[in-house]
Amino acid sequence: MLILNIQMFAVPFRKVSKTRKRTRHAHNQISAPAMVKCTNCGEMIKPHMVCPHCGTYKKEQIIEVKSKASE
Ligand SMILES: [Zn+2]
Repeated sequence: MLILNIQMFAVPFRKVSKTRKRTRHAHNQISAPAMVKCTNCGEMIKPHMVCPHCGTYKKEQIIEVKSKASE
């Protein structure tokens, strides 16, 4: 039976080549969030979420949204 007894240590930054570091960091980018159009008001919103602009979900009023003009 193979027993792995591997310990991970911190590596001095001079021992890691620029290419190796940049290759590792190539996966660190963040992607843009998925956005869909609200079926009620047409604003771009997160999918499966109540629209923060009009307060509807599947054309059903879920929450009351305070308009900025009334404040
Ligand atoms: Zn909406």
